[in-house]
This record gives sequence, C-alpha cells and structure tokens, in this order.
Amino acid sequence: FRSHVLVCGGTGCTSSGSHKVIEKFEEELKNKGLDKEVKVVRTGCFGLCEAGPIVIVYPEGAYYNRITPADVPEIVEEHLLKGRIVEHLLHKPHGDEELVTTLNEINFYKKQTRVALRNCGVIDPEKIDDYIGFDGYKALGKCLTEYTPEQVIDVIAKSGLRGRGGGGFPTATKWKFGASAKADQKYVICNADEGDPGAFMDRSVLEGDPHSVLEAMAIAGYAIGASQGYVYVRAEYPIAVQRLQIAIDQAREYGLLGKDIFGTGFDFDVEIRLGAGAFVCGEETALMESIEGKRGEPRPKPPFPANKGLFGKPTIVNNVETLANIPVIINKGPEWFASMGTEKSKGTKVFALGGKIVNTGLVEIPMGTSLREIIYDIGGGIPNGKKFKAAQTGGPSGGCIPASLIDTKIDYDNLLAIGSMMGSGGLIVMDEDNCMVDVARFFLDFTVDESCGKCTPCRVGTKRMLEILERIVAGKGEEGDIEKLEELGEAIKDGALCGLGKTAPNPVLSTIKYFRDEYEAHIREKR
Ligand code: SF4
Repeated sequence: FRSHVLVCGGTGCTSSGSHKVIEKFEEELKNKGLDKEVKVVRTGCFGLCEAGPIVIVYPEGAYYNRITPADVPEIVEEHLLKGRIVEHLLHKPHGDEELVTTLNEINFYKKQTRVALRNCGVIDPEKIDDYIGFDGYKALGKCLTEYTPEQVIDVIAKSGLRGRGGGGFPTATKWKFGASAKADQKYVICNADEGDPGAFMDRSVLEGDPHSVLEAMAIAGYAIGASQGYVYVRAEYPIAVQRLQIAIDQAREYGLLGKDIFGTGFDFDVEIRLGAGAFVCGEETALMESIEGKRGEPRPKPPFPANKGLFGKPTIVNNVETLANIPVIINKGPEWFASMGTEKSKGTKVFALGGKIVNTGLVEIPMGTSLREIIYDIGGGIPNGKKFKAAQTGGPSGGCIPASLIDTKIDYDNLLAIGSMMGSGGLIVMDEDNCMVDVARFFLDFTVDESCGKCTPCRVGTKRMLEILERIVAGKGEEGDIEKLEELGEAIKDGALCGLGKTAPNPVLSTIKYFRDEYEAHIREKR
C-alpha cells in the first residue's frame, strides 16, 4: 500500500461517528479505484478525544480532526489522489493559530511519552499480525527461551514497575509472592474493572492493544507458575470485550496461548469474565468472589491473594496498564524503563483528562511531570479564560489538588503526601465556578451508592457523611459539621474493611483541608 488511512476506532471517536467515516473511506476509495493502493486501518485511541473523529493519513502523517463522512471525498480526491494536504481539516491547536500537519507538532503530544499506549492509534487491534509486526509476542518468546521465571521477576524488579491500578504496589514483589506459593494450580488475573467516574485508560488499552495485555499475562503466568488467566472486564465496555475475545482467539490460533507455547512445554490460556458494573468489584478480593460466581464482596486480608486467591489458589491480580508495560520492559530492558520517572515511581502513567480542560482525552506522561504541565502544556488550559481551581486525581478514592500545589510533580508518593492519590488515572479539572463542597458531595454520593454494605464503618459512616454534606450544600449546615465530617472520615479510613471504604472520605477530607473556607461560607450563609 502506498498510503495508510488510520481512523480512530476507540469508544470516544466511535461515539462521534468514526465507524461511518471508515465506511465512507472504503466506499470512496473503491469508487476511485484506490482500494488496492490505500489501506484503511481502524485503530485504537489516539488520545485527543476532544478532537475526534481523528484520521491520520500516512506517509505524510497528516492529522485531520473532527472528520465527518462528508469530509471524506475531499480527503480522497485532494490528498490521496492529487497529493495535496487538505489544510482546512488539519488540527488547529487552541490558542495557537499556527497550523500544524503531524501529530508530533501538536502541543498535546509534545510532553507525552507513550509506553503503555505505544500501539494505541498505531496498529489494527483486531489483527495479530499488526501486533507481531511491532515486536508483539517477542517478549514472551524471550522469557520462555532465555529466562528462568526468577530472571523474569528480576527484570521486572529492576524496572521499578509499580501497580498502575491505584495502590502502587511493586509488581515484582507481588509476582515473587505468587511464585513462592506452593500449589497445583495458580492464576493470573487482569483487573479491567475500571470504575472511576471519568476514567477510560484501561478501556483504551484493551480497545487499542489487547494483545499486549494477553502477552503480559502469559509472561506473568510463566513467572509465577500459573497456567490459567482471567481478564475481568466490565460488560459496559463492549468494544474492549469484543476486541479482547478476537485477540484471544487469534493468539490461540497462532499457538501463543494454549498448550506448549513456542514448543517450550509452557501452557497458558486466558478467558474473559464479565463484570456487571459494581465499583467494589475492582477491589481484588471482591473481583475474585465475582469470578467464582458469588456476590462481589471483599474478603478480609490476610490471607492475601498471592497465597489464597481465586478458588483458594495462589493468584496475582494486575491491572491493565501495569500489564501493558510488561512486554516493552522485557524487550527494551529494565534500565530503559527505570530511566523514566522519579526515584520511587518509574516509567510513565496514563491519565484520562477530563472536566474543565480544553484538550480532554487520554494522556501518558513520564512520572514526575508537574500538574501544571499536564493542565496547561498538554491539556491546553482552562476553557473560556477561567481560572484553574483544583484537580481531582484518583476518582472517588483520591483527593483534590488545589491551584497552590499546581507545581506538584506527579508520582505515587507526592500525591499521597498532599492528601490525594494516584488512583488508576482519572484526572478531573475544576475551574473557579466549581463549588468544592459540591465536588466532595458528588464523589461521596458515588461511594455511598457503590458501598457493598459488608462493614459498618463504610455502610453507615459514609451515609452519615453524605447527609452532613447534603445539608451543608443545601444551606442548612450546623456549627460543628466540619469537625464531624473530619472525625467520621478518619474513623471510616481506620475501620473500613476494603480500599473502597478506606479511601471514600478522601475527597471530603482533602477539600476540607484546602477549601475549608468554602465549607464555612456555606454554613455561615445558612438559610
Ligand atoms: Fe464493602 Fe465498603 Fe466495607 Fe469495602 S469498606 S467491604 S465496600 S462496606
């Protein structure tokens, strides 16, 4: 093919009609007799969801945005037939009148480093050959033929990779626990139960590069001695589920999943389990209960899953983004990965950037990038000339970062130190018009709804906190309400059984910490 037309087939662009753009390209190319010379590829997410549907035409790399089927004949006629880039359809950066042609010239991408997202927007996720063409399954082959399981864990340990699902636990340590457990059967689970409001990182990886997750699961299986993997994914992610199933079928067909992989005698297979949308099922023990066919409620820890997990067998649970990093760490070496990031947080992190921000979308930045760089350099700033007020990281488990801390360098430890947390990667930006008490109420309302009810501090405590918040927002707050919220919040953090409850008070406590005056003003202005 002399040209490739890449069209984003992620959920964002699909919902704004990219499938119709693809159909129109195929029809138009056929009509012009170009269908043997120009290939149309449906890719995963390019990241700049705000500008979708996005189309990139190679070899020029022309980055067209907000493309409708009506624009397609012009691109085919002018660009693909006559070799003239259609300037008025190119991306025009906000606040910068200079026209740019390629992705690398767009401010949104300049400070990003795509590691977990390396293949998203590049390959056709439904074609295993595309993945193989970009070094796919090479890392698995290398592990099975050159490394012992201990050496694989050692490579991951040297890379410094920490779990991207929220907690930041060192991945190699988890694998070591799994490897040292003795059992006739062990399991690897990929946690794709992404539930934070506004978060779509894992969804985009599964939609854009499902084989990277499968390859990593097989590597994890080899490292700990497991022969079976499960991907627990939300049923609300139909495109991700469909592409994952296609990827599993293709990998089996190519002998990359199943029996005797690469003729090494190593067996490993993967199955999908669908989650019904309960937020608590993102908690690893609740997730395992759900796979076992029970109600998704957390189990007390210990015993930890690495010793007694799924069906009572040693199990490691890794999140999608964590796994997507594994093959490239093996291929490029742990030193390469560890050269990015901060002292204790290596590599990159994917964030779903949303809220009051110009460039909403999916971004991947080296750890240690400041919040200011994310919001202004990558995100393009706050729309309508408004002032930045705060950003919420970590969804309902995280906390608010106020404008005074905008130069905080994003990593696990820095975020914890200021009362927030990395979480899985939701990053919601708020401007001067947002009421921070209302923001706290929104997140707590979510966790009250999603609490499984198993333990009292979470079931009753969060409900009482929500009642207080609701009366403050309604202008009926009492003297002493703020102190009650703080007291209850600390008690819930101490007493709740699982991560959902332990982190539920964070949005309230962090907004009280940084925006106490807003709480006080609501109470003073009592009606
Ligand atoms: Fe259930 Fe909440 Fe207790 Fe977790 S903390 S077990 S979600 S009630």
